[in-house]
Amino acid sequence: MRKKYAATFIVAVLIVGGGLFAWGQNHASDAGSTVVEKAPVLSQQKQNQEKQAAQQDRKTAAASDTKTQKPSQSTNGKAVSSGQAVNSKTSVHQSSGDKSSESAAKGSSKTGGKNNFINTYSVEHVVSNPESIAVLVNKTYRLPAGYVPSDLVYPNVPFTFSEKLEKRKMRREAAVALEKMFAAAKKDGISLAGVSGYRSESRQTTLYNNYAKKDGVKAADTYSARSGHSEHQTGLAIDVSGITGKCAAQSCFSGTKEAKWLAEHAQEYGFIIRYPEGKDAITGYKYEPWHIRYVGTKLADEVTSRYMTLEQYFGSSVPVSK
Ligand SMILES: [Zn+2]
Repeated sequence: MRKKYAATFIVAVLIVGGGLFAWGQNHASDAGSTVVEKAPVLSQQKQNQEKQAAQQDRKTAAASDTKTQKPSQSTNGKAVSSGQAVNSKTSVHQSSGDKSSESAAKGSSKTGGKNNFINTYSVEHVVSNPESIAVLVNKTYRLPAGYVPSDLVYPNVPFTFSEKLEKRKMRREAAVALEKMFAAAKKDGISLAGVSGYRSESRQTTLYNNYAKKDGVKAADTYSARSGHSEHQTGLAIDVSGITGKCAAQSCFSGTKEAKWLAEHAQEYGFIIRYPEGKDAITGYKYEPWHIRYVGTKLADEVTSRYMTLEQYFGSSVPVSK
């Protein structure tokens, strides 16, 4: 009799124990699944991914304060991220962390000098993070049609004109940084002035069309963006000159003391010289020492200290929507 009870007891223990173990396993995997990164986003051309992915993951992590997200590994093919469909031509991944639009994913890069990427209008993607201060806008990546930043303000700095025009505006964070930078320049004896900040899509379209009519499409494309492709539409970019407006947005601005000051100090305030000398093939534009773009201090430092462009920094890891 005793033996029978003992045997029953052991069986019961095994059953209960097994049940608990199984529950534990399920529970563990449930928990695990909530942490699993959700999918990637779009994507692009293939090649050199591994190397670059590793490199870029480091960079992205470093840029976390700019609200970019760390991307997951890249794969080709169809991917969807955060509910956004992606263009099948570009392969990029976006981790599912927070749900804000601030994200930058990583993938194969076509933008760096070593890759075959050519920043032209031959391929077009619409970015899904237009409100991110790290948004990449160029010939390949455009803003959603009709995009208007939600927090445009008038920075309290001098401009080369006195009217209260739309082009005085910038997004709030960039405007505050611009005010600090102009004040710092002044302390160094450099009086800066704004030339052109925010530009609406329709304004950009008009400007570009006029340039194309005057100089031809090929030439216009080297210095002016087509509709939806201008950084000025983000409210994060501004053309700057000396207070007199001499050489404003012209090649003779190069070499001026204002240009030198900007090249040396812009990144301290979160700005980068967006179209550096000799990077035409990567940025798609000729050297513009006057065009600065706000990306936040951390990202600005990362990009500037490595003599990179935003294209090289992000590779093709740009979250896009279809
Ligand atoms: Zn500009």
